Amino acid sequence: MDLLGNTLQETVEAAKALGVSRHRAAAAYADFFRTDRCTEPWVEDCMPPIRTTTIDEETVKFTLSLGDGLETESVIIPMHRDGRVTRTLCVSSQIGCAMGCGFCETAQMGLLRSLTASEIVAQWHAARHRVDNPFDGGRGFPIKNIVFMGMGEPTDNLPAVLQSIRVLADHHGPAVPASRITVSTVGRTEGIRTLARFATARGFRKLNIAFSLNAPNDRIRGEIMPITRAEPIARILGALRDWPIQRSAAFCMEYVLIPGVNDAPEHCDETCALLKGILCSLNVIPYNPRRESPWRAPTEEEITAFVTRAIANGQFCKRRGTKGRNAMAACGQLGNANIRRRTFVPVRIAG
Ligand code: SF4
Repeated sequence: MDLLGNTLQETVEAAKALGVSRHRAAAAYADFFRTDRCTEPWVEDCMPPIRTTTIDEETVKFTLSLGDGLETESVIIPMHRDGRVTRTLCVSSQIGCAMGCGFCETAQMGLLRSLTASEIVAQWHAARHRVDNPFDGGRGFPIKNIVFMGMGEPTDNLPAVLQSIRVLADHHGPAVPASRITVSTVGRTEGIRTLARFATARGFRKLNIAFSLNAPNDRIRGEIMPITRAEPIARILGALRDWPIQRSAAFCMEYVLIPGVNDAPEHCDETCALLKGILCSLNVIPYNPRRESPWRAPTEEEITAFVTRAIANGQFCKRRGTKGRNAMAACGQLGNANIRRRTFVPVRIAG
C-alpha cells in the first residue's frame, strides 16, 4: 500500500481490508512519515528516487524521477530570523504549467501533466528525510513551512492538491499545520472559492492563500499573464474578499517586479490604490530571469524605490529575498528545458 497519498484514517480503512489492526496501521503510518522507517510487509515504499540535487549557497533544489520519465522539482529555502534558520519547502503541483505567464520558466514547458497527491507529498517526504543535507552531514531537513509555488497552478489540479494538504496536515503523519501551508494561485476564481470552502473545515481554517497579482491593472497583467483575459483582477479580488480569513491573518499579494513592465512609480501607486481596504501584504519578488528572458532582473535601487514608495502609500509591503538564482531554483525559474514542450497544452481561456 502507498501511504504517501493517504491520511491516517484512509490508511487504517485500507489496512483493515488486509486484516491489519488499527493500532498496527497507525504505528506504520507514523513510522513512515516521522522516521522514514517501515518494516510492515503491506506498506510499499513508493517514494520516487531523488534524481538531482543542486545547491546554491543554502538553497537546495531537488528533483524526483517519476515512473513515466518526468520529474518533479522542489526547492528547500532557508529563512533567517533572529539568528535562527528555518526552512520552507516549495512544492510543485504539476509538471510544467498551462498558464503561460511570460516571466516564468515553467511556462516554457507547457503542461506535461498534473501530479498526484502521492507525488506532491513525496516532495515533502524527500525533503524531510532523504535529500542529502551537506550542512549537518546527514539526510533531510526540518521543514517549517510549505508553499505551493513550484511548477504548476494549484487550482488547475485541486483534487490532488487538497488531498495532499489533508495528508501533509495529518497529525499522525507529516503534521505540518495548515497555518504553515500556503497555496499560491494566478487567481482562478472558481478554484479560490473551492479552496475557501476547504478552508472552512476543521483543521484547515488557517490555510493561507497567495495571489500572484504582478501588475497594477488588467492591461499590464494581460501582457504577462494570459489568464487575465478570463479572470480580470476585480473579479479575483472579489473572490478573495470572501475568503474565510482569520482576523489576525493577511493575504499575500505577490508582485514579481519586472523592469520596464510594472515597476514605474505610477504602477506602484495604482497597485496600492487597488489593494486599499484589503488586509494584505504586498510581497515584492525581484524578477529572476528565465532562460531567453526578454527582461533583466531589477537592480537593488529599483526594488528599494518600489518597496519604499508602497510603504509610503500606506501599504504593508516587503521584498522577498532572491535565493537559488544560480541553480535555477529561484521563484519563476523551475522547469526542465530538456523536456520542454514534449506535450504542450495551451492555456484554457474561457469567456
Ligand atoms: S508563474 Fe505559476 S501559474 Fe504562471 S506559468 Fe509559472 S508556474 Fe504557471
